[in-house]
Amino acid sequence: MASVVLQHVTKRYGNVEAVHDVNLDIRDQEFLVFLGPSGCGKTTTLRMVAGLEELSGGDIFIGDENVSQKPPKDRDIAMVFQNYALYPHMTVYENMAFGLKLRKTPKSEIDRRVKEAAEILGLGQLLSRKPKELSGGQRQRVALGRAIVREPKAFLMDEPLSNLDAKLRTQTRVELKNLHRRLGATIIYVTHDQTEAMTMGTRIVVMRDGVVQQVDTPDGIYNNPANQFVATFVGTPAMNLVKGAVISQGDTASLQIGSQTIELPGRIRQTLSRLNSNALTLGVRPEDIFLGEGRADEPALNATVQVIEPMGHEHIVYLAVEGQPIVARTDNAWQGRVGDVVRMKLNPQRLHAFDPQTEASLL
Ligand code: ATP
Repeated sequence: MASVVLQHVTKRYGNVEAVHDVNLDIRDQEFLVFLGPSGCGKTTTLRMVAGLEELSGGDIFIGDENVSQKPPKDRDIAMVFQNYALYPHMTVYENMAFGLKLRKTPKSEIDRRVKEAAEILGLGQLLSRKPKELSGGQRQRVALGRAIVREPKAFLMDEPLSNLDAKLRTQTRVELKNLHRRLGATIIYVTHDQTEAMTMGTRIVVMRDGVVQQVDTPDGIYNNPANQFVATFVGTPAMNLVKGAVISQGDTASLQIGSQTIELPGRIRQTLSRLNSNALTLGVRPEDIFLGEGRADEPALNATVQVIEPMGHEHIVYLAVEGQPIVARTDNAWQGRVGDVVRMKLNPQRLHAFDPQTEASLL
């Protein structure tokens, strides 16, 4: 396996800059996930690593070698796409062996690699079946098997789970994670699905409009988002953003939200000098809100309950604070009703703060 390095990688289609100055050091054996909404440039970036798309600027290294000018077949990487087209007239064994045969790999070596991959993927009993005799998940595994037998320097995967149903997607997610560990493989994975990114990635690259927003571990992305876009893209329901005006008085600072004020915790107060004006956007995740009396020293706001969604083990509660919408999660023992005015406590350790002008985190 190998590291993959992107230096100032840029892609332009006419006037559109699909990928802007991406710099990344993807480590050997890393499971790196590109995450972002449709059209953010993640597929284009992956295709440039694969050699399927020319670079408009910058360089890509695989291992120590600059591959920017190399054709895909000489890059020694394997790509798994969302449409994992298998050859329908070939058996599972033949499908997996096909690429190696084309490369004139000795028969005994092909046999060893196919059987090893089949063992890893739990396909040992299915080698003589045709694709139409397999389930969707099994077909997906054969597609992975075809990539594994090549023993590439890195695997590139473009939404490989998107054609599977929800249950199979969850299962395959776990399998992929297991596979990553067993193979000790470098995997670069593209998805718009935050759950896939959070559960599988060793690091996540969040992209928007061709620009990298943040590169961090799943925990880092969730707990310390760099800006409002990352903060609201990861997490369900999304992080709440509440607008207010900062009032500083000596050693304390509070945020005025309509007719209510809450004291800002010290860790936010210390960052206020970075603000461009006195406007501040407070970020709070639905799970960091407590509906009820709670602790007296926690910042609290009065909110009106608008909608309650029972989810079984919890409720998702939609509230309004001074005309601004807020979503909270609460356990299913909570007794509130639509129309109630409730006390909403915010966990001070978990509050985020953003500059409304730049949308960047102050923390
Ligand atoms: P999706 O999840 O929908 O595949 P993505 O994040 O992978 O989205 P890309 O496919 O990388 O996004 O596209 C990035 C941008 O480049 C988009 O605005 C897209 O319209 C544009 N683009 C992609 N390929 C081409 C092309 N061949 N010609 C012109 N524009 C393109």
